Amino acid sequence: HALGAHVTVVNGVAGERQRAEAAELEALGITVRLGDGDSLPEGTELVVTTPGWKPSSPLFAAAGQAGVEIIGDVELAWRLRGPDAAPWLAVTGTNGKTTTTRMLAAILTAAGLRTAAVGNIGVSLLDVVLGEQQYDVLAVELSSYQLHWAPGIRPHSAAVLNLAPDHLDWHGSMAAYAADKGRIYHGNKVACVYNAADPQTERLVEEADVEEGCRAVGFTLDAPRMSELGVVDGLLVDRAFVPDRRNSAQELAETADVRPPAPHNIANALAAAALARAYGVPAGAVREGLRAFRPDAHRIEEVAVIDGVTYVDDSKATNTHAAQASLTAYEHVVWIAGGLAKGAEFDELVAAAAGRLRGAVLFGADRALIREALARHAPQVPVVDLERTDTGAMSAAVDAARELAAAGDTVLLAPACASMDMFSNYNQRGDLFADAVRAALPDSAARS
Ligand code: ADP
Repeated sequence: HALGAHVTVVNGVAGERQRAEAAELEALGITVRLGDGDSLPEGTELVVTTPGWKPSSPLFAAAGQAGVEIIGDVELAWRLRGPDAAPWLAVTGTNGKTTTTRMLAAILTAAGLRTAAVGNIGVSLLDVVLGEQQYDVLAVELSSYQLHWAPGIRPHSAAVLNLAPDHLDWHGSMAAYAADKGRIYHGNKVACVYNAADPQTERLVEEADVEEGCRAVGFTLDAPRMSELGVVDGLLVDRAFVPDRRNSAQELAETADVRPPAPHNIANALAAAALARAYGVPAGAVREGLRAFRPDAHRIEEVAVIDGVTYVDDSKATNTHAAQASLTAYEHVVWIAGGLAKGAEFDELVAAAAGRLRGAVLFGADRALIREALARHAPQVPVVDLERTDTGAMSAAVDAARELAAAGDTVLLAPACASMDMFSNYNQRGDLFADAVRAALPDSAARS
């Protein structure tokens, strides 16, 4: 609208909130159609969609029949960027996107570059592209939804961190989900960064249509082979962006520079370092940036230590793959879990974690799926099923977990599920956990 296009906003829902939003848009001279999400407004030349709409929506079928192109906000931003616009270093994956993107921005900042963490991370690419501020390079987080509708983007370099089943209801199948993630590599100029421990990500690189000279660069928690970044004796080491890949290696940082220094997070740091190095950032800035980085809230966040028990908020673990990462970071865990499973299965997660579990406390709509997996793979683990789906269940869960925990244990909120059955979002879920934990703190207790 600001650029002179004639815009019609379509929302299939016509509730009170939508009407209020419509009034605001109409005041700007924008046409709004509420209550009909199926047909294509007459005269439409381009559809720009949001992730809330599934690709199977009838309006898109109508657009397809009329030969009208459908894109998302990321593609629109790409097309609207100027000729001298900042290149994109792009990050996707099932888990770790936000963390890695923020680490990358911290490293680029430490290198003295004008940058920002943008995309699926709170700052929209459209705002950046249309805004006044000048950037040298952007750290761009992209979701699978955004990639689905962004066929034309051409990042400088990109990383797929990992691939595990998620959002399959939207994409239709694992193959379609992987293919959408893989789009991030198309047109890459310098490096396609993949996870050497996740062959699916390497396969996506092999299938990608990249610019000549663009390299495949792996990251690994083991000693790096040629063209990889990895770990040697507690050091992050680069064997990809060095003068002689065969013989030379560049130390970048210590694993202790990464917060928290859990294995999955060191992998995130290596991926961020790989993208920064692809852009030519020196080793010193990688270390400085990683040291300056602070994790976002609700991502393996230590809340307090009470009577020798550490309470950790990983409310952002909204799927089983994420929960597995945090469960394996601790020796003895009392696990608080449950919520909306989104079609996931819990057998693999529970079997992998069984040896570490001191107990489990369950709530939420799909808690029975977790309870049954525990019965199958960890029958010795005491389970408290709160049989609750109300918001107040969180403080009951913390109470139950405290009963199950002994000094030296970790009480871990890693729900492996979405939160919307009980909470407004994962932020509220994590905040209520932290509130309940802090309520048990003696007044003079040291907070971590
Ligand atoms: P995303 O933006 O992809 O949702 P975040 O960086 O916000 O990822 O992390 C979400 C959660 O995923 C974390 O709280 C943690 O439980 C888990 N996680 C983070 N990095 C990884 C990783 N590399 N592999 C597996 N799980 C991870």
